[in-house]
Amino acid sequence: MEAWKKAVKFLSKTLDIRVYPDSVHTADGCTCLIAKVSGKKTFLAMGKGAAFSRFEGRETDTGFTGIKLCSLSNKNSEIAREIFPFAAPVSSRGKKITLGLGDRLGMASPGHIRLLKGKPVFPVLAQQSIRELNLTGKKYEDVLAAATWAVIQEGYTGGYGADGDHLKTPEEIQMALDAGFTMITLDCSDHIDNDAASLDGNELEKAYFQRVEKEDRSLLEKKYAGKSVELKDGTVINIGKDEFRRTVLVYLKAVLFAGKMYNEKIKGCGRDVDFEMSIDETLTPTAPAAHYFVASELTSHGVEISTIAPRFCGEFQKGIDYRGDKQLFKGEFTQHFSIAEHFGYRISVHSGSDKFTIFPVVGDTTGGKYHLKTAGTNWLEAVRVIAGKNPDLYRRMHRFAVENLAEAKKYYHIYTTPEIVPDIENLSDEELPSLMDIDESRQALHVTYGLILQHKDSSGKPEFRDEFFKTLEENEDEYCQVLEKHIGKHLELLGV
Ligand code: ZN
Repeated sequence: MEAWKKAVKFLSKTLDIRVYPDSVHTADGCTCLIAKVSGKKTFLAMGKGAAFSRFEGRETDTGFTGIKLCSLSNKNSEIAREIFPFAAPVSSRGKKITLGLGDRLGMASPGHIRLLKGKPVFPVLAQQSIRELNLTGKKYEDVLAAATWAVIQEGYTGGYGADGDHLKTPEEIQMALDAGFTMITLDCSDHIDNDAASLDGNELEKAYFQRVEKEDRSLLEKKYAGKSVELKDGTVINIGKDEFRRTVLVYLKAVLFAGKMYNEKIKGCGRDVDFEMSIDETLTPTAPAAHYFVASELTSHGVEISTIAPRFCGEFQKGIDYRGDKQLFKGEFTQHFSIAEHFGYRISVHSGSDKFTIFPVVGDTTGGKYHLKTAGTNWLEAVRVIAGKNPDLYRRMHRFAVENLAEAKKYYHIYTTPEIVPDIENLSDEELPSLMDIDESRQALHVTYGLILQHKDSSGKPEFRDEFFKTLEENEDEYCQVLEKHIGKHLELLGV
């Protein structure tokens, strides 16, 4: 019998222990695994070597091998990433389909991995924006640790990414890099001049001459104004004089900022980091000419672009399907893809969960070359499990979500209002999970996740949080299954 099996047998005399079958890994004379020990997920290290002695935990001597019962702490995850290189995040360089999954609760990655094992998809398991960190009360180290443990637990060695999502400042970028993240999504919305997008005629001319330096004007005019640019695939992008001026006004500062961030923070950081520029949180859709301008200027500032996320036409609201003209989307998306191909990066689709209507377009148009960023759909699937397993908790969360929807809408753009969320008072317990198939209840629960998780009762204790995690932990396999089904539907329509 292998030593680790003997050791587990030894422990099981006194403890209730259930090993995750794919979690057993050996390196440097140290065998490690993850098990539920008396209901608590625990990391077990066994052996005698240097690697063994590094893990922090409670040591037991079995007479034939040392065993340490360790917590799934950030510190232990850091050691695990060093000892087992597959557990550390890597750049997505050379990958074709990458999927931003994220895991707000730190419990979704096993389900994601079970679905993606063996498929030609590179998962970005760790992915959080600053907004999500604030709303969940987590740090980047916590997010990476959760991904690390999931990869070890599921025995997944295919590689994964870690995305510091929607970062806006040099300090935020540094924070994500220091934590070991391998992708930086720069959110340039603070440097985008949305007002300029609606300027015309004299106003446009005046703003252009007032706000853009003479030197920049003459340089950029030569490159873009009134030009028809032919892309490598023959697509022609026309940049009329007015459109050129508007584009410069709206995007130039964002481009300069992105160039500075890339060159100062990312280029020399000593490892491969994927750089994504997101311009998706603007008021108006990104015109192909503007996308071309942004990509071309980033390139001339020496930026190695991994992905760009334009804002597409139509609405990409959280938690629900695409709302807009599918044909129009197809036409514009095709041009955006051609631009990305021309410069050699991949197109990125944000708020990409649940956009079932357009997935076939994304899959077909790109021939399987894109980044699709989902956001928070795994939280909704967790809520589905709660609705099925702990209806009383779900009812309280639902009422709270409706009461606090107005507050949450300050952070998220959704159409749902409290009045149109389905009433639960006349629903039976059995009917509750199906609320996660209705747009209005999905959106209400989607955007209030931070408020729900952080809400405290009058005695200062979390009102929902602990019960939520306890229920989810007790139903971990069920959670994996609903995720596999839901994200699986994404992949099917994308043609993976
Ligand atoms: Zn985004």
